[in-house]
Amino acid sequence: MSGPLRLDPDGLVACVACGLCLPHCPTYRVTGREIASPRGRIAAMRAVEAGAAPADDAFVRAIDECIQCRGCEAACPSGVPFGHLVEATRAALGPVGPWWRRAAEAVALRLLAPRHTLLVAATWVLLAAQRLRLVPARLGLPRLRAASLRPLDLPAGGSPDAWLFPGCVMDAWMRDTHRAAARVIRATGAVVARPGAGADCCGALHLHTGRIALARRLAARVVRSMPGDAPVVVDSAGCGAVMKDYGRLLGTPEAGAFAARVHDFSEWLATRPPPPVARTGRTVVVQDPCHLRHVQRAHGAVRSVLRDAYEIVETDDDGLCCGAGGLYAATRPALASAVRDRKVAAIGRAAPGAVVASANPGCTMHLRAAGLDVRHPAELLAEVLDG
Ligand code: SF4
Ligand code: SF4
Repeated sequence: MSGPLRLDPDGLVACVACGLCLPHCPTYRVTGREIASPRGRIAAMRAVEAGAAPADDAFVRAIDECIQCRGCEAACPSGVPFGHLVEATRAALGPVGPWWRRAAEAVALRLLAPRHTLLVAATWVLLAAQRLRLVPARLGLPRLRAASLRPLDLPAGGSPDAWLFPGCVMDAWMRDTHRAAARVIRATGAVVARPGAGADCCGALHLHTGRIALARRLAARVVRSMPGDAPVVVDSAGCGAVMKDYGRLLGTPEAGAFAARVHDFSEWLATRPPPPVARTGRTVVVQDPCHLRHVQRAHGAVRSVLRDAYEIVETDDDGLCCGAGGLYAATRPALASAVRDRKVAAIGRAAPGAVVASANPGCTMHLRAAGLDVRHPAELLAEVLDG
């Protein structure tokens, strides 16, 4: 921890520049530029850390263009902890980009995400603006529905068999997914509750944009909001990945114990007696969110829980990222869209026109904006419960 980026030196030197990660990197695949590859980014981090190069605009761009999908990490034979290296680099750089981007991020991440009531109020305003056709379609925002914003029919706190973590944007914009998840959880015979006060946001978006102190504060509140030993079920792959890493993020035994209780929705469901479902024969293409496949490595469970009701079809792109990446689709729209084009083509090759299963709200919104019919595994299961 000696250079300006304060990176873990062991992680940094672990890269032997073999290049095996390159085909798994969406930004390298789209641009063909070495500096937009994991190997190029690690070389750039090393140079800055050693004082051999400045953290100039080209360096900031190379780091900012990384989707933090961690496809490289899963492919790396040397175990380079790329995700933690880039998170630490983002933390050292702080917020990046033009003033309007930093201002928008500050409003979204500092003001709204930590205050869920305010975020939901802002969502009602956005919904009204959409009805008045004041929101440009090019922003790619989902079409909000008043019915989805009805309060969630779940008790808060108590001693449930499982907690369902609602999150920030997902609870404001895609609350129907939580309704479906709760229905499926109950169909297994489990009593489910939502967290007590403090579970406004998991901190993932903050961590990925270099706001590590705020991410830690939010994480500590989330840990306190769900006491006891019951499993914490998360139906957003991005949130679940960060919550499983709270032990490292907060560095306390309590956070480590909490992290061990966190399960992705499908991962938890696969451990329960299967709920009764009707076999539909319908084809579903599974899209693996990067934070489910490369970070949680729990993507197999999605197939397990869906296969009794649907015909599962795989894509041929080895789980390549779709380009959503938290705020990435908004902050780097051209690159995010070029990466998405490849995913859309892969889904089209797998089963043209089929429903797509995705366990992450960011991927869902990004792919829906390209015209695909994308549903959460919980929604697909809730549809066929009890026949
Ligand atoms: S990150 Fe891993 S796979 Fe990529 S070049 Fe370095 S050692 Fe090879
Ligand atoms: S995290 Fe994803 S985008 Fe970033 S270098 Fe690795 S593979 Fe490429």
